[in-house]
Amino acid sequence: MDKKPNILILGGGYGGFKVAIYLQKYLRTNKAQITLISKHDYHYQTTLLHKVAVGTYSARKARIFYRKILDSNKVTFIKDTILTINPENKQVFGERGCYSYDYLVIALGFMPNTFNIKGVDEFCYKLETLNSAIRLRNNIESKFKDFADNPLDLRFIVCGSGFTGIEFAAELGTQIDELCKICGIDRDLVKIICVSRGEQILPMFDCKDSNIAKEKMSKLGIEFVQGNVVECKSDGVVIKNRLGELEEIKANNIVWCAGVKGSSVISNSPNFEHKDSRILVDEFLRVPKYHDIFVVGDSAISMKRNILNAPTAQLANQMGSYVGRNLIKIIDKQELLKPFVFQHRGTVCSIGHTDGVGVVFNISISGEVAAFLKNFIENKWIFSIGGMVNVLKKGQFRFRSSN
Ligand SMILES: Cc1cc2nc3c(=O)[nH]c(=O)nc-3n(C[C@H](O)[C@H](O)[C@H](O)COP(=O)(O)OP(=O)(O)OC[C@H]3O[C@@H](n4cnc5c(N)ncnc54)[C@H](O)[C@@H]3O)c2cc1C
Repeated sequence: MDKKPNILILGGGYGGFKVAIYLQKYLRTNKAQITLISKHDYHYQTTLLHKVAVGTYSARKARIFYRKILDSNKVTFIKDTILTINPENKQVFGERGCYSYDYLVIALGFMPNTFNIKGVDEFCYKLETLNSAIRLRNNIESKFKDFADNPLDLRFIVCGSGFTGIEFAAELGTQIDELCKICGIDRDLVKIICVSRGEQILPMFDCKDSNIAKEKMSKLGIEFVQGNVVECKSDGVVIKNRLGELEEIKANNIVWCAGVKGSSVISNSPNFEHKDSRILVDEFLRVPKYHDIFVVGDSAISMKRNILNAPTAQLANQMGSYVGRNLIKIIDKQELLKPFVFQHRGTVCSIGHTDGVGVVFNISISGEVAAFLKNFIENKWIFSIGGMVNVLKKGQFRFRSSN
C-alpha cells in the first residue's frame, strides 16, 4: 500500500487556514495526512486588528480557535512557532519540534517593515498580531484613564497612510468623543496626526476616492503631515518634510503602519529566493526550485502579471483555495489546474464603523454602503471557515450610525 502523503501547512491566517479548510472539506478522508502549524491556537482576522487596537471589536470575539473548526480526524493542529525551513531535507524547524513533509504550504503572513529606521522597534506600537493590537488598546485606555496633565499623552502619531494606517487612525478618530466623555477630558487636547509620505493617502485608490477618504478623516479631526519619517523617539518622530528640512512632531503614542514585508522565517531559511522576505513563486504558486512547496498570501510574490498584487486578505484567500485544489489534484495524480489568476473584486477601506470608501467591481462607493460591504466581506470570510454559527458569534452586523 502507498504511504499517505504528508501535507504540512505553516501559518493559520487567511491563506493557510483556507488551504486547511479546503482540504478538510474536499479531500477524501485518509488520502493524506494534513497538519496545520501556527504560533497561536486561534485564527484572527488581521483585517480587524485596528478595531481590536481601539477597543471597538473585542479580543475575545476576534479569536477563532482552530480546534473548534478543524475536524481532528482530518486535520491535525499543532501550536508552534516556526523558525526555519530546510527544503533540501524537507524539514521544518519550530521552537517545539522538527517536522517533515511531502508537500509544504508556506503561509506565514507579514511583519512590519521598519526600513531600519532608528527607534521604530523601540518606541512604536504595531498592528502585527492580535497580541500587538491588545498592547496598543491597553496603552490607549491607560493614556485616557490615567491622564494627568501631560498633553503629549493624548497625542497620537500614525506613521503611514496606506490601508492599515488610515483604518486605524479613522477608527481611533471615531472613538475620541466617547473616550473623552468617559474620562472627563477636554476633546481639544486630543490630536491624531497621520504622517504620509506622498500627498495622496491610500495609494491603491485613484485621486478622487483618496480625497473623499481624506475629507472624511479631516472631519474626524485627523491631521495630515507630509514627509518621510527618519527617526522615532519616546516622545515623537522626526520627519524630513517636503522642503527637505528635518521637523520634529511631538507625541507620546506612535503607531507604525508604514509598510510590511514577509516573515523573517523566509529570510532566515537560506535556500529561498525572496524579495523583502516574500518568496518568488511560479504561476502555480510553487517555489520554482522546489515543486513540493507552495507559498500563499503575504509570504508570496510573483513577477507575473495577474499575480503581483498588493498583499491583501482577498489575494491570500484566493491563493489558499487554489493551492488546496491543486494539492487534491496532485494527490489524485491528476494534471494541475491552469495557472493562478487573481480575481480582483474590489477594495473597501473602513473609516470607522459606519463609514468607508472603496471600489467594488470598478464602481466607487463610500459612506454607509461601503461600511455595510466591509462588514459583509468580513462576515463572508467567517462563514467560509466556520459557517453560520460562527458568523452569529463573531460577525459584525451594526453598520448604520445611530444618529
Ligand atoms: C490593520 C490591517 C487592516 C487590513 N485591512 C485589509 C483589508 O481591509 N482588506 C484586505 O484584503 N487586506 C487587509 N489587510 C492585509 C491582510 O490582513 C493581509 O494581506 C492578510 O492577512 C495576509 O494573509 P496571510 O495568510 O498571508 O497572513 P496572515 O493572515 O497574517 O496569517 C499568518 C499566520 O501565520 C502565523 N504565523 C506567523 N509567523 C509564524 C511563525 N513563525 N510560526 C508559526 N505561525 C506563524 C500567524 O499567527 C498567522 O496565523 C490589512 C492588514 C492590517 C494589518
